[in-house]
Amino acid sequence: MTQFDAEPMYDVAEFASFELFSPDVDGTLWFFKDLLGMIETGRSGNSVYLRGWQDHYQHSLKVTYRETPGMGFAGWRAMSAQALDRRVAAIKETGRGIGWVEGEYGMGPAYEFSLPDGSVQRINWEVEYFKPAPSEISIVQNRVQRRPLSGVPIKALDHLNMMAKNVTTNKEFVAEVLGFKLSENIVTSANVEAGAWMRLQTRSHDVAFTKDATGEGGRLHHVAFLFGNSQHLNDAADVLTDHGLEIEAGPAHHGISQAEFLYVFEPGGNRIELVGTLGYDIHDPSWQPITWRQDNLETAIVWYGSPLPPEFDTYGTPNSIPTNYRTPNRYIQAEANQLFRK
Ligand code: FE
Repeated sequence: MTQFDAEPMYDVAEFASFELFSPDVDGTLWFFKDLLGMIETGRSGNSVYLRGWQDHYQHSLKVTYRETPGMGFAGWRAMSAQALDRRVAAIKETGRGIGWVEGEYGMGPAYEFSLPDGSVQRINWEVEYFKPAPSEISIVQNRVQRRPLSGVPIKALDHLNMMAKNVTTNKEFVAEVLGFKLSENIVTSANVEAGAWMRLQTRSHDVAFTKDATGEGGRLHHVAFLFGNSQHLNDAADVLTDHGLEIEAGPAHHGISQAEFLYVFEPGGNRIELVGTLGYDIHDPSWQPITWRQDNLETAIVWYGSPLPPEFDTYGTPNSIPTNYRTPNRYIQAEANQLFRK
């Protein structure tokens, strides 16, 4: 029996928050707020908290000043207080627990732990819901707030892709300990798992691990935000290029997940994915993972649209190895804000 034959577990509900390290907080904020319409909800120390207009909680993105870009933590919300207790106990048994973190803006206590590759994760239950000012309340009652007027506004945080030294080890950890289900994967001709796309509930994926061709592992490949609409993705491509940002690839369609994507480097150097239309959902409880192999790999990566550049497999953040990549920062340098550089 493998972990995928076990009784399915739904103790973890969603990808709820993410901390992004940026050496250029001003540039990163300009990118997310002015160009992509995210809303600033708070500041604390060297961090700024943001959310998309359809994100329900006080924040989904925390931008923190660091000399090198990368991820701080990925935050997962448990299904209930009891589910959180169960997952924390299971994490502690693996020996990968770090400890409780309290006092995060808009979040209750979170338990911090690390994945086999070392990246930091958090799981929590209590959250503070965003309450719009009276002038921002939408007449459409199921909207969290009115659609913003700045840039091409993304709706919400979507998913996370981490570069792994060993995809299988990380996949098995999140499957066994957190209940992630495998939706699709890539297996090379040498029988090495080069990518795994995994879900919590019915979305095609909430997290992905892709093989780090440099062998480093534990790095951020990309964090993704959702438009949910092809036209908005094309509008964003227009706005981003018009403001000097470098689009790495897209808009195009992945075979895996069938999602419509665009990859762009934000001014801090991190790769950000913007998702137009999501591809498909999985409601089948006995879904058999789709395995893509060498003979069909190009379709898996890009179903239609231009292929991805070779650096897609090697560039992640932090990026300590030399890369042939042109420059992930061809943007107009924002003025240094001393507040974030102390
Ligand atoms: Fe992605």
